[in-house]
Amino acid sequence: MKKSSILVLYTGGTIGMMKDPKTGSLVPFDFGNIYDNMPILRNLDYVIDFYSFENLIDSSNMTPEVWIEIAEKIEENYEKYDGFVVLHGSDTMAYSASALSFMLENLSKPVVFTGSQLPMGMVRSDGRENFVTSIEIAASKTDGEPCAPEVCIFFEDQLLRGNRATKFNAENFNAFSSGNYPTLADVGIKIKYNREYIARPTGKKLIVHKNFDRNVGILKLFPGITHEYVQHALATPGLKGIIMETFGSGNAPTTEWFLNDLSEAIKRGLIIYNVTQCKSGSVEMGRYETSLNLDKIGVISGYDITTESALAKMMYLLGEGFSRSDVKKYLQESLRGEMTV
Ligand code: ASP
Repeated sequence: MKKSSILVLYTGGTIGMMKDPKTGSLVPFDFGNIYDNMPILRNLDYVIDFYSFENLIDSSNMTPEVWIEIAEKIEENYEKYDGFVVLHGSDTMAYSASALSFMLENLSKPVVFTGSQLPMGMVRSDGRENFVTSIEIAASKTDGEPCAPEVCIFFEDQLLRGNRATKFNAENFNAFSSGNYPTLADVGIKIKYNREYIARPTGKKLIVHKNFDRNVGILKLFPGITHEYVQHALATPGLKGIIMETFGSGNAPTTEWFLNDLSEAIKRGLIIYNVTQCKSGSVEMGRYETSLNLDKIGVISGYDITTESALAKMMYLLGEGFSRSDVKKYLQESLRGEMTV
C-alpha cells in the first residue's frame, strides 16, 4: 500500500525554536536538520516533506497576506499530499485556522494546525508530542478516507475544529478550548475520532479564496463604555463591518445614545455582527429586552460563533465582494461548520 504523504508548513512560533548552543537564546529551528533533531520522525511510516516560510514570524505578526501564502502552498501541493500540518504560533492560531477554513472551500484533506507552549528544543517541550500526533492525524485514514478532512487545531490531547477554537490559556499545554463544539478527536493511548462531529469530504474540487477586506473592527462592550469611544469606533474611516462583543446571550445597554449611534451606523451601511463575550453559549437576540432593540435596528446575530471566526468570516465575505445583503445573509449561515444556527 502507498505510504501516506504529509507536507509540513513551518510559519514560525515557539514550536520551531531551539536554544542556540553558542548564545543560549531561542532561535528558529533549521528544518533541513529535522531528522537529526527529531530522529523519532524516522519511525513514522509516512513520507514527510517540509516547507519553511522565508519569513518566520511570531504569530502576533500574523496578517491576511500570510494566510494567503499558507493557502497557496496548500493549493499548489493539494494533489501531491494526503494531508497538511501547519506549524504556527499559538497566539493567533485560532484566527488563522478560521481564516483557512473559509479560504479552502470543499476541503477534503486534513489541514492540522499545531504549535507549542515550550520550544521544541527544550527538554520538557510539548512541541514534539504535538508535532508527531498532528502528522499522524493528517495521515490517518479509514477505508481509504481521511479521518479528519477539516482545518483543525491539535494541542495536548484534543483535536478541535479550527473555526470553533479559542486560545484560552497562556501557560498550560492544554491551550485551546472549543466551548460550542465537541472535540473532533481525543488523544490518549489511541486517537479516538468522534466521527459524528467531523465533516466528510465533499468530493468536489477545492476552491481557494484569496481575498480579505481589513476594514473590520471589534467593539467589546463594558459597563461604563463612553459615548465618545463608541462614536469613534463606529466612525473609523472606511469601516465596513464591526464585530460587537456583547454580554451573555447577546445583550447590550439600552441607553438611547448607544442605540441611536448603532442605528445610524447601520443606516450608513455598516454591518454590525453580534457575538457573545462568553466562551460558551449563543447569542439569542430578543430573549431579553436588552437584545430585542439590537434586533430591531438591524444588528446581525452571530449565534455561537467565536470572535476569531467572526472576524475571519467578515474579512473573507467582504473581501470576496459579495453584496451587503449577501454578506449579511452568509454571516447568519454556517458556511464551514463555524456556528450552530
Ligand atoms: N508568541 C508565540 C506565537 O504565537 C507563542 C507561541 O508560539 O505559542 O508565535
